[in-house]
Amino acid sequence: MLLAKIAPLLGCTIAFAQNPPAPTGVPENATQRVSEHVYAILGFPNIGIIVGNRATLVVDTGMGAPNGAIVAREAAKLAKGPMLYLTTTHFHPEHASGVQAFPANTILIRPAVQQDEMEKHGAEFVQMFSSRSALYREQLKDLQLRPPDLLFDRELKLDLGGITARLMWFGPGHTQGDELIFVEPDSVLLSGDIVENKLVPSMPNADASAKGWLAILDKIAPLHPRHIIPDHGTLGDGSLIAQEHTFLSDLQTRAQDLKRQNIPVEEAGRRIEADLKTKYPDWGSSAAIPNAVRRVYAETQ
Ligand SMILES: [Zn+2]
Repeated sequence: MLLAKIAPLLGCTIAFAQNPPAPTGVPENATQRVSEHVYAILGFPNIGIIVGNRATLVVDTGMGAPNGAIVAREAAKLAKGPMLYLTTTHFHPEHASGVQAFPANTILIRPAVQQDEMEKHGAEFVQMFSSRSALYREQLKDLQLRPPDLLFDRELKLDLGGITARLMWFGPGHTQGDELIFVEPDSVLLSGDIVENKLVPSMPNADASAKGWLAILDKIAPLHPRHIIPDHGTLGDGSLIAQEHTFLSDLQTRAQDLKRQNIPVEEAGRRIEADLKTKYPDWGSSAAIPNAVRRVYAETQ
């Protein structure tokens, strides 16, 4: 369905080059336990597996069928019940393109907004990742994507047997369709790209929103998660939410100030990148700062 719609990339504003992902995938036999019912595989990207007595929920597939197969095997090793649910934190290929490697009876769930975004931009991102390296091209070849079995608007609660997962969509942040998952009673948040441990928020194109991102952080702060499993980078505790908020609102305030002074956006991006690199020297992906400044400029009157 998506492959029929590969869009030409000319004139495309997507700028991922500043934030190159590690050229690897999801490791086999490396699943670690985070809480009583929740497991994580740390890789590109991180994967979450939530195991109930009746059903298992996998969060994200990895890039293409080869990584999807690894994730599906790891989930099968842990599963206690026959039902398998799969959901994706956003439509980008390393999170959502490995669906075909899962068993045919897997129940695929997504926010409606994310599905819509995938239909509009999925093929474009597959094309872009494929052009980045021979490894990604190999991982993404012969993709077979399929429509989800379940769509939800804002929240869907899944009872997995002795454990509940809340699948939530709050609005745009990294993409239009970011999904976050909160697991109760383990108090684990699977935060997608929205909360990470000292990585500059990635706003690859005009579908991202700094304002929306901060609004999501405000909405999830009251959950006070004990553990956070981000899509990329290291795991952490609930304090990552405030840490993310501090960094992003600092960036937003600086960009709003420079816009008010009529400083051109490119100049603002350079200045703010230099300043924040000094102020937050241990934050990775600092080259993503100018894109975030661009979003704040677009959102500031
Ligand atoms: Zn992404």
